[in-house]
Amino acid sequence: MTPNPPEKTALTGEGQGGRSAALPLLPTRELVLFPKMVAPIFVGRRKSISAIETAFAAQGPLILCAQREAAVEDPSFEDLRPMGVRARVLQLFKLPDGSVKALVEGDERVRAERVVESEPHFLVEFADVESPDVRTARARSLARRVTDEFVRYVQLHPQLADEAQFVVQQADGPGDLADIVAAHLQIEAGEKQALLEIVSTQQRLTALLESLAEENAVLGVEQEIAYKVHQRIEGAQRQLLLHEKMRVLRDEIEEAGEEADEDLAGYAERAAAKQLSPGARKLATRELAKLRQAPPMSPEIAVIRGFLDTVLELPWGELAPAEVDVPRVARHLERTHYGLKDVKDRILEYLAVCRMRADAAKARGGAGGRAADAADQPATILCLAGPPGTGKSSVAQSIAEALGRPFVRVALGGVRDEAEIRGHRRTYIGAMPGRIVDGLAKSGVDNPVMLLDELDKLDSDWRGNPAAALMEVLDPAHNHAFRDNYLETEYDLSRVFFIATANDTDAIPDTLYDRLEVIRLSGYTTPEKLAIARRHLIPRVARDTGLTRTDVGFGRGTLQAIVRGYTREAGVRELERALRRIDRKVARKHLEDGLALPAAVAPGDLRGYLGEAHWLDADLPRAARVGESLGLAYTSDGGEVLTIEATIARGRGELVLTGQLGEVMQESASAAWGHLLSRVERDAELKRLIAGSAFLTADGLDLASQDVRVHVPEGAVPKDGPSAGLALAVAMLSALGGVPVKPRVAMTGEITLGGRILRIGGLKEKLLAAGRSGIRTVILPAANRGTVDELPADLTAKLELVYVTSFREALPHVFGESVVRRRASRGHNQ
Ligand code: ADP
Repeated sequence: MTPNPPEKTALTGEGQGGRSAALPLLPTRELVLFPKMVAPIFVGRRKSISAIETAFAAQGPLILCAQREAAVEDPSFEDLRPMGVRARVLQLFKLPDGSVKALVEGDERVRAERVVESEPHFLVEFADVESPDVRTARARSLARRVTDEFVRYVQLHPQLADEAQFVVQQADGPGDLADIVAAHLQIEAGEKQALLEIVSTQQRLTALLESLAEENAVLGVEQEIAYKVHQRIEGAQRQLLLHEKMRVLRDEIEEAGEEADEDLAGYAERAAAKQLSPGARKLATRELAKLRQAPPMSPEIAVIRGFLDTVLELPWGELAPAEVDVPRVARHLERTHYGLKDVKDRILEYLAVCRMRADAAKARGGAGGRAADAADQPATILCLAGPPGTGKSSVAQSIAEALGRPFVRVALGGVRDEAEIRGHRRTYIGAMPGRIVDGLAKSGVDNPVMLLDELDKLDSDWRGNPAAALMEVLDPAHNHAFRDNYLETEYDLSRVFFIATANDTDAIPDTLYDRLEVIRLSGYTTPEKLAIARRHLIPRVARDTGLTRTDVGFGRGTLQAIVRGYTREAGVRELERALRRIDRKVARKHLEDGLALPAAVAPGDLRGYLGEAHWLDADLPRAARVGESLGLAYTSDGGEVLTIEATIARGRGELVLTGQLGEVMQESASAAWGHLLSRVERDAELKRLIAGSAFLTADGLDLASQDVRVHVPEGAVPKDGPSAGLALAVAMLSALGGVPVKPRVAMTGEITLGGRILRIGGLKEKLLAAGRSGIRTVILPAANRGTVDELPADLTAKLELVYVTSFREALPHVFGESVVRRRASRGHNQ
C-alpha cells in the first residue's frame, strides 16, 4: 500500500527530513489531501494534467499543494500554500473531454520550497516534514477524546455513513489518527489546510478536538430541528420543506408558552421531592421565579432550565448501601482479578480501616448522623499507580461492585482548566458544572465510587490550577462543603469514595501526593498474562462478541505467540484487543463462510487474523556492535529497552549529547566519560581494551580534536534518570576502543566518577521489559540483589543476572571474556 519513497539525499535537520529531488506539483482548489488518505480527483487544467500524467507514467510520486484562493485559474508558485502532501497516483482515467480523473493516495507531509521549472507543469524542490509520532500518555489521552468526539460527529452528520466511524480503527498511533479524522471532517478546505499545517501531533489533536466539539454542537441543534421537520413532512413534497421549517419554528414559539406552565409545575414538583439543602432550595425558588417571568422563547429560559435540571438531578442525600463488607470485597476481587496479591491485600487493609473507623464513630455518635458519615472516610485517598493496562480501573470498578455502589469515572487526562473540576460561573455562555458534580449527578447517589483517572496527567496553565481545585475535593476538612462555580451553593462530597489512578506518581503535584495512599501495580510476566487471558480476557471477549467461552480455542502456544509477536506492553490491554480482533473475525467467518465452531486458533493462523507480527526478536541486534549498548529505562508506560549509541568523530574535544536526554541523564553521561578518561590510561585492563583504538598514540589517548557523541534514539520520548550510567560508559568505551559489545546484553546502574555502580529503581519493570524484548543477560548493581530476591521467580527464570559493584567487573560480561583476553594478549605485544 505505501508508495515508494522518492530517493533522498540524506541531510537531516530538526523536524525536517532531507531535501529531495524535484517532483511535479499539482495545485488543488478544494481538495486537501492528508497522509495515508485515498481520494478521487478531477483534473481539468493543462498544467495539472501534465503534472499528474507525468507522475503516473513514471510510477513516481507528485506533490499536492492547495491554492490560497480556489478561484485563481492559473496559479503562480506564490499562490500556493507551501505545506502539502507527497502522493502517489493509484489510477488514472482520461475522460473524453481531455480532462483526467485519478485516484491519489497521500504519503507524507512535505514543504514545497523552490520552483525548478514552471512549464509544462510545476517542478519543485521540497523538504520532508516529519511529524514524529508521539505516543505519550497525553497524546493517547487526547487521541481517545478525539475518537469519542469523532464517533459522535459521524452519528450526527447527515452526509457521513455510520461506517465512517470505524476508519479510526485503522490508525496506527495518535498522529495517524489525527490525520484520518481531519481527512474525514466535512469542513472548509481552508480549515483542513490549517489542520494539515500543524506538524506537532499533540497540537493537531487539540485543534481537532476544538473543531469537533464546535461542529458537534452545531450538528446537535440542526438535528433536533431536522427531526421535528422530518416527522411532519413524511410523504409530503420537498417544496414544502421551507414552509414546514418555518411552521415548526412558529409552533415552537407557541408551544413554549404552553409548555412554560407545565414546566413550572414539573420543576416545582421535582424540587419538592428532593432533600435540597437550604442554600439549594433558596436558589431553586429564585430560578423558578425567574422562569415564571421570562418571556416565552427568550434565550434565558434555556439557561434557567439547564440550571434547574442540573440541581434537581443531583442526589442531595440519596445514598447507596454504605457498609463496607471486607470479606465480600475480598471474594469479589479474587473472582474478577488474577494475581495482584499485594495489591489486593493492601486494598483490603485500607477498607478494613474504613470499616473500623465507621463502626467506632457509630458507637460514639449513635446510628447515622453527620459525625458518623464524616468519620466513615479515611484521611487518605486510595491511588492505584502503575503502567497502562495493568488493571487499575477495573480493580476500582470491582471494588464498587462489591460495595454495591455505583461507579463513575472522571477522566483527568489533559485537564488544564480549573473550571473542568470546579465548573464555570453561569455568566459564561454554555456554562456547565465541573466534572465532579457532573459525576455525582450521573451516579445518582452521594456515595458512589468515583474514579479520578490519570491524576498524573493534570496540566496547569493560565486557566488556573486544577490540582488546587482537586485538593479541595479530596480534603476531608473541606469537602463536605464543596463549592462548584456553576451550582453557586455548597455540595457535600464527604461521602464519595474516591479512588485515583496514575501511571507516573512523580508527575502528581506534591500537595496532592501527600493525600494519597499509593498502591503500586507493576507489569505482568508472560505466564501471568497467559493466566489472565485464559481466566478473564478470553471468556469476557467471547461473551462480548456473542460467542461462548469455548467457541474459540486458544492453546498455550497461540497465546504466547500473541503476547510475544503482537504486543509489547506491561499490561494486557493490547492482548485483550488482539483477542477481540480474532473473535470478531471468527464470528464473521462462522456466519459468512460456515466456519465450524468451536474453532481452534493455531499460532500459524495468527497472520491471517492479526496480520504480520509487529514485534520480533530480530528487533534487537543479533551481532555484536561497536559503540552501541542496551540500557533499561523505567517510564510511566512500564519498562523499556533503550539503545545507546556513542561515536567518536572529528571535533573539539567535547561531549555532545542528543536524543532528548534529561539533566540527570546528561550528568551521568559526563560522569561516565569522566570515569573513562581518568582511568583508561592508568588501569591496565581498560588500557588493554582500547589497545586497538584509532585514537591511541605513543603518548597516550589523543582526543583533543575529537568529539564524543552520545545519542539515545527511540523517537521523541524524553529520557532521564541516573540509571543509564553503566550503559553509557559501555557504549563510550566500545566506541573508544573499537570493541564490539555482546548482543542481547542489557545493563542498568548508576556510575560514579570513580567507577562504582550504584543501586537503581524500577527494577521489576526493567526486567519485565528485558524479558519481553528477548534480552538474555542483564547486568545490574550488586546493591539491587535484595530487590531481585523479592521479585517473582518466573520473572528472572529466563534471564542471566550478573551483579556488579564496579564498572570493571562488568567488562567481561559486556565485551565477552574472549575479547577481553584477546585484547589482553595483543596489548602485551605492543
Ligand atoms: P488500567 O486502568 O491499569 O490502564 P484496565 O483496568 O483498563 O487498566 O485493564 C485493562 C484490561 O485488562 C481490563 O479489561 C482488565 O479487566 C484487564 N486486566 C488487567 N489486569 C487484570 C488481572 N490481574 N486480572 C484480570 N483482568 C485484568
